[in-house]
Amino acid sequence: MKDIKAAVVEQKEGKFNMKSLKLKDLQPNEVLVEIKGAGICHTDLTARDQSYDVPLPMILGHEGSGVVKEVGSQVKKVQKGDHVVLTYGSCGTCRTCLEGTPQYCEKFFDLNFGGERLDSDEEAIDQSKEEVHSRFFQQSSFATFSIATERNVVKVTKDAPIEMLGPLGCGIQTGSGAVINSLKPTAGSTIAVFGAGSVGLSAIMAAKICGCQTIIAVDINADRLKLAKELGATHTVNSDQKENVVEKIKELTAQGVDYAAETSGIPAVLAQAVSALRWKGKVAVVGAPPMGETAPIDVNEVLVWGKQIIGVVEGDSIPDVFIPRLIEYYQNGQFPFDKLVTKFDFEDINHAIEQMEAGNTIKPILTF
Ligand SMILES: [Zn+2]
Ligand SMILES: [Zn+2]
Repeated sequence: MKDIKAAVVEQKEGKFNMKSLKLKDLQPNEVLVEIKGAGICHTDLTARDQSYDVPLPMILGHEGSGVVKEVGSQVKKVQKGDHVVLTYGSCGTCRTCLEGTPQYCEKFFDLNFGGERLDSDEEAIDQSKEEVHSRFFQQSSFATFSIATERNVVKVTKDAPIEMLGPLGCGIQTGSGAVINSLKPTAGSTIAVFGAGSVGLSAIMAAKICGCQTIIAVDINADRLKLAKELGATHTVNSDQKENVVEKIKELTAQGVDYAAETSGIPAVLAQAVSALRWKGKVAVVGAPPMGETAPIDVNEVLVWGKQIIGVVEGDSIPDVFIPRLIEYYQNGQFPFDKLVTKFDFEDINHAIEQMEAGNTIKPILTF
């Protein structure tokens, strides 16, 4: 048993309450991590608000990073003292995992939102023995210590600031991977990124790394568009103004963009992204609207123009390969994701979330 302090959501749309809890002992495939930093991502709030059906009370948090304190008897990938970034959980044995695409694991929902070890009972319990769910993204990292699995810990260099690296395990790999791994734009091509939050801005930095010649950022927030320019956007379109976004993009690119990434999660914006593509253009659907939403897309436009619409989870990333690569880009100055980050003390989690919801911070990271 390990004593921990954790931020627990007890009811729908509720606050995060600090609790003293105990973690159970490790199973053979598990890794105990002392959390040094934990990013807050939109999906934590989706879970809090029960747009996804996660069991409460639960410890959320799925962008953790820290130091390995103990490993289960079968763990080979990491050892005590290693620095790790925690990422999403996958089973490793279903067909899509075996095809090399664990981000579409057939057990993804159970493993990341189900709140339990798949093969056992809970491991976070409070002193009154009342059940508290953990295992959110196989980590529940809004806590001083977290149990992850060998599959979802990524060993990283000790030369990088460990408390900053957690968001590479979700939001930042989601945006940058959608460009680098999924769209794979050729050098000199054109791209539009819809939404300039942490995911969209990561996509913009990635587009610059890929050598896109025209990178258009679309958002309603002038400050974020300004930051988008600093990070590599060549043009910005403020969709809150009277401008017709699609016309404006076609004007900037002659016939439309080769690639687009939709990160806002707004179905009408996805329709704009499709319309802004040139012949045979490809759009990555990255942002998630509430379950069941549909988008108004002109089918003949997709058909006749040969357009492609692809869904992308977690940036199609193989985290053990892609996250160390992102850290190298960061260390080379090509991927300054620290410009998106505001740090808060773990104890100030509710304040951090207020700041995020008010649009005052792009990527809050809790430090421990
Ligand atoms: Zn799987
Ligand atoms: Zn996330």
